[in-house]
Amino acid sequence: MFGAIEAGGTKFVCAVGTGPGDLETIQIPTTSPGETIGAVVAFLRGRAGAELQAVGIASFGPLGLDPGSPSFGHITSTPKLEWRNFDFAGAVRQALGVPIGFDTDVNGAALGEARWGAAQGLTDFVYLTVGTGIGGGAVCGGRVVHGLVHPEMGHIRVPHDTVRDPYTGVCPYHRDCLEGLASGPSMEARWGRPASDLPPEHPAWTLEAHYLALGLVNYVCTLSPRRIVLGGGVMQQPHLFGLIRAELLELLNGYIQASEIIERTREFIVPPLLGSRAGVLGALVLAEQAMLCLI
Ligand code: ADP
Ligand code: ZN
Repeated sequence: MFGAIEAGGTKFVCAVGTGPGDLETIQIPTTSPGETIGAVVAFLRGRAGAELQAVGIASFGPLGLDPGSPSFGHITSTPKLEWRNFDFAGAVRQALGVPIGFDTDVNGAALGEARWGAAQGLTDFVYLTVGTGIGGGAVCGGRVVHGLVHPEMGHIRVPHDTVRDPYTGVCPYHRDCLEGLASGPSMEARWGRPASDLPPEHPAWTLEAHYLALGLVNYVCTLSPRRIVLGGGVMQQPHLFGLIRAELLELLNGYIQASEIIERTREFIVPPLLGSRAGVLGALVLAEQAMLCLI
């Protein structure tokens, strides 16, 4: 039996099980590391006990993911001060004494969708979440892309026509990066009400689709994904998918001659199949990988 932790800025989703069919899940509010991790460990101990083989953590970041670095397993430069430089993987390993898998929340969600969801059988795809922030996980050649740190797919720069959209952007680091212009909080700040309250005919949505399609064009051109899975709160708006697909085709302008993109666009840009469970199921995959590393 595996333990899974999806760590978010407002809540942790914690589970034990082996897959979607037998997952037992609880939610724990994100307070201080001591309190939150204490509750997580108590749940995992109580439900799995000695049967617990490994734990996977899919966490908000930025994270230390380089196994050769002293910051491996840590949350690094988060604005949440209590969690800054917290040795997350170390704390859980110490408490439970089992192997720990550790990756970003979006890499976790990508792994979950690859195993049980909308990206099954695909060696190359992108999972992007559009919520409080924008973040992505890329799988290339069957492996999750890590690199020097880990990709920050929400912080790419996109053209910002300040005549069409005078809003300056919400990213504290870059202002008008993709996250700054297209995250849920940016929509709320620009239009004066939460994205969920904006009706489908509101001009907010064509602008949102425009920015997201600009982001996707960059991923298509640099990573050559076979599919892009779009999740997160803002993507709860089903009409946004059609707008993004149309805008993406327009921006690509026929340059990439792949029928998977041009003719089967509805299967190229898709919602997650696992919904809000993608992250915690991905954490379960991370646990399994951590255990297999030892065998
Ligand atoms: P988080 O990114 O914090 O994990 P979510 O993915 O749920 O959480 O994203 C939260 C953001 O998504 C908020 O900015 C919220 O306004 C927006 N959001 C949530 N539900 C909807 C909806 N149904 N339609 C549009 N936007 C939504
Ligand atoms: Zn940014």
